[in-house]
Amino acid sequence: MDRLFRYSNGKDAFYAVERQGGLFRAVPDGRSVCEGYTVGDAIGPERERLTLLAPVVPRKIVCVGLNYRDHAEEMKKPLPPAPMLFLKPSTTVLDPGAVIRLPPDVGRVDHEAELAVVIGRRAHRVSRANAWDHVFGVTCLNDVTARDIQRQEVQYTRAKGFDTCAPIGPCIAVGAGPEPRQVEGWVNGSKRQHSSSAQLIFPIDYLIEYITFVMTLEPGDVISTGTPSGVGPLVAGDVMTVKVEGVGELTNPVEAEP
Ligand code: ZN
Repeated sequence: MDRLFRYSNGKDAFYAVERQGGLFRAVPDGRSVCEGYTVGDAIGPERERLTLLAPVVPRKIVCVGLNYRDHAEEMKKPLPPAPMLFLKPSTTVLDPGAVIRLPPDVGRVDHEAELAVVIGRRAHRVSRANAWDHVFGVTCLNDVTARDIQRQEVQYTRAKGFDTCAPIGPCIAVGAGPEPRQVEGWVNGSKRQHSSSAQLIFPIDYLIEYITFVMTLEPGDVISTGTPSGVGPLVAGDVMTVKVEGVGELTNPVEAEP
C-alpha cells in the first residue's frame, strides 16, 4: 500500500510516495492529488534536507464528537442518537513536527488522537454501500481542544478552532479500506489513549452517508472520526504523538503562545 507524503525543499512543496521501501515523486493527475497521481523519479539523498508537511490541506475538516462509547462515558455525556458533527477551519492544520501553540488564558487544552479519512472523489448524497469508493486513504489527526471553552459554550467553533489545533499526518495510507485499525495517543512517551476503529459507534461508511446528505465532500476534505477515552491536558514542553496503524506516527511539540 502506498504512503503519500508532502514535503518542502525550502522553495517548493511537492508530493512523494513511499512504495516498496523507496521514495518517489508523485505528480497529481488532476487538481487534487487525492483524485490520483502518477509516480515519477526516485528521491535520493536530498531526502535528508526535506521538511515534512501536512499531507493534505483540506478545504474543510468535518469532525465527529463522542464517537467512542468509553470517551462519552469519561465526558459524562449520553451516547448521541446520531453523529454529532462540527467543523474545524482549515487554518487549524499543522505540519508534522511543528509546534502546537497553547493560546493564552483559555484554561485547559486537551489532545484527542483520531483516525481521519481523506476524501478522493466528490461525494454528494452517497449511500453507505458506495461510501468507501469515495475515500482516498486514512491518516492521523490530533483534534486539539480548548476543553474549558468547550464546557462553557454550546457551539464548538471557538473551542476547536484555534490555529495549530489540527496536526495532520505524517502521511496518507492510500487505498485504505474499512479494516479495523489501532488508534493511540501518546504524551511524552506514555500511552494515554488506545482503541480500535472497530469500536466507532458510527462507522466510517455511515458517517460518509450522513455527512454527504448535508454537504458535498470534495477531494482532499477530511473527516476526523472521533477520539477514544484517555483525553487529557497538554502543557508547554509536552511532546504529543498520534499513532494510527498502517499510517505511522504524528508527533508535535507543545509550547505556550507568547
Ligand atoms: Zn475530536
